[in-house]
Amino acid sequence: MVSWRAKPNCYDTDSDLIPVKEARDQILRNVLPIRESELVSISAAAGRVLFENIDSPMDVPPHRNAAMDGFAVAGQQIPDRHATTFQVVGTSWAGAPFTGAVGASQAVHIMTGAVMPDDTDTVVPQEHVETIDDEHVRIGPGHPLGINVRAAGEDITRGQTVLTAGTRIGPAESGVLASLGIAQVSVGRRISVAVMSTGNELRGAGQALESGALYDSNRFTLMHMLARLGTDVADFGIHEDKPGDLLKSLHQAARGHDVIITSGGVSTGAADYVLDVASKIGDLQVWRIAIRPGRPFAQGRIGDALFFGLPGNPVAVMVTYYQLVEPALRRLLGETNVEPVPILQARTVSRFRKKPGRTEVYRAILSRDAKGQPTVRSTGQQGSGLLHSMSVANCFVILGDEADTAQPGEWVDVQPFYGLL
Ligand code: AMP
Ligand code: MG
Repeated sequence: MVSWRAKPNCYDTDSDLIPVKEARDQILRNVLPIRESELVSISAAAGRVLFENIDSPMDVPPHRNAAMDGFAVAGQQIPDRHATTFQVVGTSWAGAPFTGAVGASQAVHIMTGAVMPDDTDTVVPQEHVETIDDEHVRIGPGHPLGINVRAAGEDITRGQTVLTAGTRIGPAESGVLASLGIAQVSVGRRISVAVMSTGNELRGAGQALESGALYDSNRFTLMHMLARLGTDVADFGIHEDKPGDLLKSLHQAARGHDVIITSGGVSTGAADYVLDVASKIGDLQVWRIAIRPGRPFAQGRIGDALFFGLPGNPVAVMVTYYQLVEPALRRLLGETNVEPVPILQARTVSRFRKKPGRTEVYRAILSRDAKGQPTVRSTGQQGSGLLHSMSVANCFVILGDEADTAQPGEWVDVQPFYGLL
């Protein structure tokens, strides 16, 4: 691994900027998925990464059943022209099937989800049937053979691989596992991430803010993003820009945690010690990534722990986390698909100023215009310290390396903040 010291004094030019995608690919190459798994109940598996393929032990639905409330008949008994009378010989309830025989001009009253009686293959909906008395109904033409019946195995067939190792278990996967009668699955072990903030100016709630001081927000943003990803989080607090103190904490964090994430102190200012210290006790790669906000960024290893050194500005923390850290953590967790949230396009009503040569990430608000078309507008000032703008925004507008300024009316790439959870 290249030491950050190998590239001194080139911080004023753009010549050593590396494209985001290249940085992400390199970071992903430096991360190996965990191997340890554990067997957990499917309710405890929510949000975890599956470590086994799931082959279905059964058909879903397990039986041929009615898709509507109505009358089950043999399709060829349905008249071509004039309504005819059917004798109702019984009822098939969901959970209590009708087990008798069904002959010519006979029907079984059937509920949605109830097993189709033998000798029937079609359900005539309740509302298309004329009731004569308790035991007789009239059914007219126009009900195609086989209609309103769900075949056994039409959702999942026995033996089919329904989920593959490396899948994050979302709500649908929890339901699929449950529908197969599976009680426990093998998932990757939990990982633990140590989070620390660095900066002499940082204070915690309850502390006085003297001139130049501000409250630490990065730690809380990071801990929340990590909690959503499903990692365990260890809060390592605020650290002053003192090499000795940092050294001790990084050492301590490297023992017993899979990942260490710091924010602040990764630039080349006189008080930026994180890189000095981390490179002394670990392997470090430092990049100037061609992304704004978020240029300085470090990744490496301290002992057995992965290390990510994020910039200090609060928006840069979130941008670099989503672009670079989260994909790496998902790979560490064993997920096979580590692609960031999909990008869609919307027409911008704002102007997004931009120079080619780097990716820029803007905070924006996605909505629909009067015609229902997706439209996006800037939250306003885009300074990398303006954290509140992240809270006002509901998406990023991302202009890639080659893009120029986006003018009102142009289509731009948009990455929504939230999907279905
Ligand atoms: P640095 O990268 O350490 O030079 O920090 C860049 C900017 O981010 C400075 O204005 C810091 O005060 C600010 N900053 C650094 N860490 C935090 C934090 N944990 N919470 C809020 N702001 C921070
Ligand atoms: Mg600092």
